[in-house]
Amino acid sequence: MTNRKDAEPGLRTTRESEVFREPPGSGNYSSSIGAAQGIELFTGDRRRARIARPAKSIHEPARETPVFAETDVLVVGGGPAGTAAAIAAARIGADVMLVERYNHLGGLSTGGLVIWIDRMTDWSGRHVIRGLANEFMERLPKDAIQGPPRADWGNRDAATASYWAQRTAAYHGIVTWSPTIDPEALKTLSMRMAHEAKVRLLLHAWCTTPIVEDGVIRGAIFESKEGRHAVLAKVVVDTTGDADLIARSGAQCESDIDADDIHHCMNTVFLVGGVDMERWLAFRREEPEAFAAFMEYGRNRVKFFEKPFVSWRNDVALFLGPRLAGYSAVDVEDLTLVELRSRELAIGHLDVYRAAAPGFRDAFLMLGAPQVGVRHSRRLAGMRKVTREQWDTGNVWDDEIGVSTSLSPKFPNISVPFGSLLPEKLDNILGAGRHVACDASSHTFLREIPQCWLTGQAAGVAAALAVGTGLAPRYLPVSAIQRELLGQGAYLSPIIADAVAPASAAE
Ligand SMILES: Cc1cc2nc3c(=O)[nH]c(=O)nc-3n(C[C@H](O)[C@H](O)[C@H](O)COP(=O)(O)OP(=O)(O)OC[C@H]3O[C@@H](n4cnc5c(N)ncnc54)[C@H](O)[C@@H]3O)c2cc1C
Repeated sequence: MTNRKDAEPGLRTTRESEVFREPPGSGNYSSSIGAAQGIELFTGDRRRARIARPAKSIHEPARETPVFAETDVLVVGGGPAGTAAAIAAARIGADVMLVERYNHLGGLSTGGLVIWIDRMTDWSGRHVIRGLANEFMERLPKDAIQGPPRADWGNRDAATASYWAQRTAAYHGIVTWSPTIDPEALKTLSMRMAHEAKVRLLLHAWCTTPIVEDGVIRGAIFESKEGRHAVLAKVVVDTTGDADLIARSGAQCESDIDADDIHHCMNTVFLVGGVDMERWLAFRREEPEAFAAFMEYGRNRVKFFEKPFVSWRNDVALFLGPRLAGYSAVDVEDLTLVELRSRELAIGHLDVYRAAAPGFRDAFLMLGAPQVGVRHSRRLAGMRKVTREQWDTGNVWDDEIGVSTSLSPKFPNISVPFGSLLPEKLDNILGAGRHVACDASSHTFLREIPQCWLTGQAAGVAAALAVGTGLAPRYLPVSAIQRELLGQGAYLSPIIADAVAPASAAE
């Protein structure tokens, strides 16, 4: 189980340090599954009263649902994981349909304004999260990405690390490849890359229900302005972030959290424009007493008070918090409350910063994220699972589909198994992104954007190979997936890469 002390070094305690918890309320919600309403709730106290829902239901008559399309691979959810999955599958030649409920690709990395792409290098500076992750970063226009030059990745020089520590790209005194990006540029690039790969994209379409026959997924139903339609598919990839299709198929999911950690918190991110971040950074660096006084002033005014992060531009500041604990990302009333609270906190921050922060005199609220920031809801119960016990060992799974950076230099890299994408008892569906199979501690890093690209790309490759061979994903020879991933530029541990492709590019 989670060992809070061990887990601490790499957790966001310095970057995402304060958690807003609502005062105790009179809510009487259960801590796991509210079976009567079919509502899944986080563990932990419910901190507010809620108006009871009527104990009634209505009968919906059965109906014929038109089939909108038949496809090889249906990818549901166009966030980092889904975009990568769709492109990877289409590049192998599969006919791919990608369904997304909003008007853009990128999920939280664009519409959620989570524009700080976390570590893709390990603590030695080796670039381990590559493949499509690398392609996304390489193909962004130069003025749409800000981070350390390749020559500095892994650099431990104090002055260099200190410079990048203020700019999201050094941690534990080591410079890492973790840039900030322009969300609009990543949206454009994602759409172009999907188009180039001949992915059939369907925006403004919300998948509601999986089509399941005897434990096998045959497609999904979506709702749009046109009404209700079905998409039939040979393989489905669930990249909704919340394992919507997997959970609604009745497959087991996990939702336990470490309540003392921030990894389950929600909030809507916001950007503040009209600032001078270099001026602000100089203030933090050179006037520690004045900075401390400002933070105290902010806490007195707003209570849960955040520091801004740099963005891809000097005149735009990024606020990734304050984080709100005790809400569920799969409860529509909680989602509404998180939006309301986040907005009030954003306005409160703006007032304080404009009044007293160097570099913020002319600041304005540029954008509240169109997508609510969800760190965690469900994780699929998979054939294999990354757990805290694995962290110390450096063990490499024989079905490895990628290598994640670890939380701190005291842990080796983390091997990610193909089995973590496969629900235990459901066929023809893979899950990738935020809801891969892992424990709550390992979720703190497996949920990050590069890791979602990594698992998404692997799921897409596996889905296309499954279509090509006619095998269910769980019966695929894993070496075929690994070989294809290497061909697509992904990094695998040398022991795996050498075994499947002796002349590979493994380091
Ligand atoms: C506040 C905050 C700060 C964070 N900080 C960082 C950070 O600094 N660095 C980092 O790397 N990561 C960070 N993360 C984590 C990271 O942003 C997410 O875990 C990651 O984006 C998850 O990717 P995903 O593809 O699994 O899901 P998402 O990004 O959530 O994408 C899922 C997509 O699926 C769509 N979708 C969902 N359900 C349906 C449906 N039923 N039908 C159709 N479409 C659907 C959604 O609209 C969305 O576009 C942060 C997260 C939050 C919330």
